[in-house]
Amino acid sequence: MNAWSDSGIVISSAPHGEKYKLIKIFTKNHGKVSGLFSISKKKSLSVFSYVDVDWSSRNLELIGFWRLKQERQIWIYAINSKTKMIIIQLICCLLNEALPTSVCYRELFDILHIICDKFTENTEQILIEYYAYFEFFLLKIVGFGFDFRSCCICGKRENLQYISPKTARIACKNCVSANSEKLFEIPKIWHLWSVVELENINCCTADINDIENSLKITLYFIRKNIFDFNSYYRFELVANLQNSFKKHSEHLGFLATQTYLP
Ligand SMILES: [Zn+2]
Repeated sequence: MNAWSDSGIVISSAPHGEKYKLIKIFTKNHGKVSGLFSISKKKSLSVFSYVDVDWSSRNLELIGFWRLKQERQIWIYAINSKTKMIIIQLICCLLNEALPTSVCYRELFDILHIICDKFTENTEQILIEYYAYFEFFLLKIVGFGFDFRSCCICGKRENLQYISPKTARIACKNCVSANSEKLFEIPKIWHLWSVVELENINCCTADINDIENSLKITLYFIRKNIFDFNSYYRFELVANLQNSFKKHSEHLGFLATQTYLP
């Protein structure tokens, strides 16, 4: 009998006969794992819930079974926000498609835990920024990150500004000015993201153009290196960026008004 306990985030759920659901969970210590869950009226194990679970299997060759100990439903904080629902779809899609099974990605899990907490707050812009960071970090942990130490041409560390779509290498302003239209311009926020952990990043530091550029480049490299991330929701997220950022400014304006009232 193989058995363990862990925490995780449910990333997919599908019917499996009349009695079971096939549930995939991205766990803290065991990575992405599938298992069967007995359908019951009392316990749901719904997608994008943060759960404490037991997993057991009589034989490693056979599929295991989940037993739910505790469930915190993060998705309920998203039901009034199209943007938040889209971000849930995208995170689940990325974890399902981009990660191998049963490989522990502890840092990515910790980032996802921080993102889950942000769902309880009423700001879409912060979540979009965290989501953009999530894609940036995902590329790094599966082996397709960017080397921000120095320019790949002259070796200098200053004015790093461009990234090659072909090689993902980084070059400075002085070295590539002649053909820079063929290169991506590095989002300013990436310089911060490349050196600071997510919990220490004061989000809402990036502007909308920077986030749009970041999402454009990470999508390009995810599709080039990992899988054909061609989700309708991904395009929808970018199409709604203006609206989400506008809502955030209005929210900040409202808070400012509240602060200055006697
Ligand atoms: Zn250079």
